Amino acid sequence: MAEKEDWRLSVNSGALLQKACMNPTDGEEISKHAPQITRCEFCLEPVQNNPYQWWFVPSDLSCCICETCFNDFKEMFEWRKLDGQDIEWRLSM
Ligand SMILES: [Zn+2]
Repeated sequence: MAEKEDWRLSVNSGALLQKACMNPTDGEEISKHAPQITRCEFCLEPVQNNPYQWWFVPSDLSCCICETCFNDFKEMFEWRKLDGQDIEWRLSM
């Protein structure tokens, strides 16, 4: 679990993501459907076109969060993990 002074929180306060609903997806899906999303909102890890790299996207598709940051910050931001079935990729276009 992350500390309040975590360096990643100086990159992004995460304020807009408080209590967001997060859908799991993978790097390949993001590259295909939402190529404007290029890196993790917190640690800036680049999105790779890779089905084995897991990501989490909020329902408005405004950004993505890597698996590590998701797990580190999920309690702090009270994220709710969805099943990924209702990602509406067309919203990102
Ligand atoms: Zn990250």
